[in-house]
Amino acid sequence: MKSLIYPHKSYPFVFAITILVLYNVLILFTAPPALAQVKTPVVEFTDTSAQARYKVGVKFNLKAQVSNALSDKLELKVRFGRQGTERTYSVDIQTGTQVNADYTVLHNSTNMPTGIPLLYSWDLTLDNGAHAISNQNIVVYQDTKTWNQLEGKNVTIRWYSGDNSYGNLMYNVATDSLATNEKRFNMIISDHIYISIYASDSDFFEAVDGRIPAWAGGVAYPETGEVLLIAALDSNASQYIGYGIPHEMAHMALYQFVRKSVPHWFDEGFAVFNQNTQNPNYLKIVKDAVQNNTLLGFDSITHGFPVDSKLAELAYAQSVSFITFLINKLGDAAFINLLDQLRTKAFNDAFKATYGVSFSEIEQQWHNNIIGKPITLPTPLLSGKVSAFLSSDKINSVTVSGLRWEMFFGGGVLTLVILFFLIFYTTRHARRKADRQRALESAKDNNFFDITLPPFQSKYYRQIRSVKSPPPPEYYSDDYLTH
Ligand SMILES: [Zn+2]
Repeated sequence: MKSLIYPHKSYPFVFAITILVLYNVLILFTAPPALAQVKTPVVEFTDTSAQARYKVGVKFNLKAQVSNALSDKLELKVRFGRQGTERTYSVDIQTGTQVNADYTVLHNSTNMPTGIPLLYSWDLTLDNGAHAISNQNIVVYQDTKTWNQLEGKNVTIRWYSGDNSYGNLMYNVATDSLATNEKRFNMIISDHIYISIYASDSDFFEAVDGRIPAWAGGVAYPETGEVLLIAALDSNASQYIGYGIPHEMAHMALYQFVRKSVPHWFDEGFAVFNQNTQNPNYLKIVKDAVQNNTLLGFDSITHGFPVDSKLAELAYAQSVSFITFLINKLGDAAFINLLDQLRTKAFNDAFKATYGVSFSEIEQQWHNNIIGKPITLPTPLLSGKVSAFLSSDKINSVTVSGLRWEMFFGGGVLTLVILFFLIFYTTRHARRKADRQRALESAKDNNFFDITLPPFQSKYYRQIRSVKSPPPPEYYSDDYLTH
């Protein structure tokens, strides 16, 4: 009987093993170039600068180099403030491997906020659909004055006239009024607020380009978190501060709670309600208007107030009067629920869902109250604490990087998989050959030619079968390319 040890008879097997080992060694040491056939696109951003010119705008520049793909589409993303609104601007480019582009966000086009960090990045789409996003940079667009600045958790105060104690006073008035609204109406500030204090009417109106009425003493842009205010260092300073800052902070808090615009009279009524000082004439103005039937229809002041200062004064007076009536007679908790309903419903629907009656019914009770008639009030349907709207925007800052290590790792994993299968198949092949040889020898000895081999059942075989294959390598991870 011949030996059952097979290797000395298996030159083809030894040759195959040698080739496979050489093959694997080759793969291991040449993994990146071998797998580079995947042609991973790489984008290098060489210039992402920006220049701000007051009253003109901000020019954003981009130079980028693309390899293994072509540029297809370009967008500029600008976030106004660290947690503020992000706007996207499409920029025309030509398909190619070099991108040389710029985009100017004009001063007049977008109520360009001043004194606020503008966080910007470029999003380049390639012709294979992949996105390459540049690192985020910051540019500040601001008035040419020399500003002092005091920055806290929710508020930054900027002023150019007055000393540090003046700035501290402004800061404290702003944060106190926000704290009051948080405590009373659960209005938590999540987006930073930037307040620029102007020292004179002329400076203020020059800054706002006459975009707002001449009677205004301040303006708030809730979406970008910007407030511009007049607070002259004269005998009226305390009065300005007492109504101006809490008024504008109320606009900000209301917007951050509801996250959409509400009827203008509602917004202004709530802002005046929050002021530390009130116009002493408002009560008489409203009483006269109710008695003479000259109130402005709330419908007519939903989108803005009259430019005429007398009518504007009436609009403010009746708005704060109605809001005060609503809050004081029907409660803070119901008012918070009304704000919550406003997030998803039109005003009249939100009103009815909260109070269970129509707006005009409450409006009639308000008239009665002003002129001393008896009133009947509903019990609100909704009344309780409602969560504030918290900003959950994430700022993504990713850069396209080389893939050498990822590919090398992928090559290693692939090699291990191949080695497992090679060992399994070559071992099985050799064993079966040896068994067949043994059976043949045995058959020859017994003159028995009808050979059937038993199934291969070695322990080694079962171990191989139980090995779980590693996952295939992923070359397009979201860590560096987004789709
Ligand atoms: Zn206002």
